[in-house]
Amino acid sequence: MESNEKQNGPMDDPKIVIIGAGIAGIAAGNKLSKEGFADFKIFEASDRIGGRIWSVVTDVYTDEEGNKAEMGANWIHGVENNPIYEIANENHLLQMRHKDKSLRSKDVFIGESGDVVGDRLVKEVDLIYGLLLTQCENFFANNMQATDDDSVGQFLQRKFAEKVDRYANGERHVRDLIFGHRKLLECCISGCDTLDEVALQDFGSYENLPGIHYTIPPGFDTILDILRKDIPKDNIVFNSPVRCINWDLGPESKYPVCVELETGEKHYANHVIVTVSLGVLKAACDRMFTPSLPTQKVQAINGLGYGIVDKVFLEFEEPIVGPDIFRLNILWDEDEPHEADLRHCWYRKIYSFEVVHERILVGWLSGKEALFMESLTEEQIGEDCVEVLKKMLKKDIPPPVRVIRTRWGTNPLTRGSYSFIKVGSSQEDVTELSKPLKSKGQPKPSVLFGGEATHPRFYSTTHGALLTGYREANRIVKMYTTAECRQPDTDEDSDDNEDNGLKMSF
Ligand SMILES: Cc1cc2nc3c(=O)[nH]c(=O)nc-3n(C[C@H](O)[C@H](O)[C@H](O)COP(=O)(O)OP(=O)(O)OC[C@H]3O[C@@H](n4cnc5c(N)ncnc54)[C@H](O)[C@@H]3O)c2cc1C
Repeated sequence: MESNEKQNGPMDDPKIVIIGAGIAGIAAGNKLSKEGFADFKIFEASDRIGGRIWSVVTDVYTDEEGNKAEMGANWIHGVENNPIYEIANENHLLQMRHKDKSLRSKDVFIGESGDVVGDRLVKEVDLIYGLLLTQCENFFANNMQATDDDSVGQFLQRKFAEKVDRYANGERHVRDLIFGHRKLLECCISGCDTLDEVALQDFGSYENLPGIHYTIPPGFDTILDILRKDIPKDNIVFNSPVRCINWDLGPESKYPVCVELETGEKHYANHVIVTVSLGVLKAACDRMFTPSLPTQKVQAINGLGYGIVDKVFLEFEEPIVGPDIFRLNILWDEDEPHEADLRHCWYRKIYSFEVVHERILVGWLSGKEALFMESLTEEQIGEDCVEVLKKMLKKDIPPPVRVIRTRWGTNPLTRGSYSFIKVGSSQEDVTELSKPLKSKGQPKPSVLFGGEATHPRFYSTTHGALLTGYREANRIVKMYTTAECRQPDTDEDSDDNEDNGLKMSF
């Protein structure tokens, strides 16, 4: 039988709905189209594709420089076996470089009052920190038992204290400052408020792909443009938020699933692929699904972590740092008296200001401080950041001419930035979340789940999200194209192997 030969009968040309046009939804649509499945629609609540990939053209960057400002995903995390890298490389998207950036290499570490800390000390602490992070990962990798409630934050704190115990006073203090910076950075990488939220036992379940981390100078969204080329234009329907999914229509209905839009419009389908974020599921899964999702899936949704990571872009009239500076890392002093009120300390979660253009700095921050920042005006954000920069750089700095910040936490279509494995949850919850559901009496799954939070090893990333889109599309393709998959399912988990789709995509 030809690989794309379809089953005869009523299921010949299945109707498929994909919810969400982020990279997972677009990847699923791309795969279905390529496999000859034409009868599908992608319903997207907003007016654009990409979701948490959002590359914005600003008037500061020029076409010649080829840069866009990335509001969401920024880096291709690793090279080897990274499908995003493969698409970017094949399409020559990595060659363009920001002229100015290639000259910038200096990563400086400065205390909040302007004291610069030397590279030697930073390297020394980095070495300890790197070793400790590897020890955290080893709990999962080597199947070592951590206590149920132990966290990455607590482990690092205990072990770091042991390592620097021999230092006193200023020598100890400066090492603590560098350690504090690394923890803030890790909060943005993991997507949490504090590392005390991150489960020690399963920290190592996230797999780092080998190779350097690239940006995509023409914009991360070029990856989406390439994937969407195979999807007929009319198959993506914008401004169409889905209100609910009735996934058990009963034997009288021709289709097992009905997807209802906020407008009340109904779309019947054989299969629906849900790719909305974990944040959206946490907020709305009880009203989004009829009948309710199985208890185990709800527990997985509630148990997994999903945090807020935001960026603050400050555009100045003139460059405020020298042409060799790439990043200003801030060493916040925990012992320094500061008000507990977030209005007066939210910015203490920004771990660095990176020079993304000679006149633009970007700061990243996470957690409750990021959520608080979202409530401020751009003017307030600019004022607060300039105060920080003035003290650090010990010079007068004019107010920024423009401030752009992200609001991933309050955006109702994302409700946060990305997922992590929280204390009390495990990688098994990710697998549980990814399991498809069968409507009563249906031999094959009708509701399938994709999106970054459903990838057991690459959760939180664009490549993870893309692979889950392929995985779920392939799950449907296999139902209609291979003899074995046209038999009624006897093994509940037979379609749940995560490699289902991964091998084909590499
Ligand atoms: C600040 C930030 C920085 C990041 N940095 C990186 C990075 O450097 N590298 C990296 O690999 N990853 C990074 N990520 C993570 C990466 O962006 C995400 O993992 C990935 O884009 C998620 O894709 P997705 O398709 O799973 O979900 P989404 O992109 O969230 O797509 C889901 C889509 O569903 C839509 N939707 C929601 N509700 C409904 C509804 N009811 N009806 C219809 N549509 C709906 C949304 O509008 C959205 O378009 C970053 C994310 C953020 C926020």
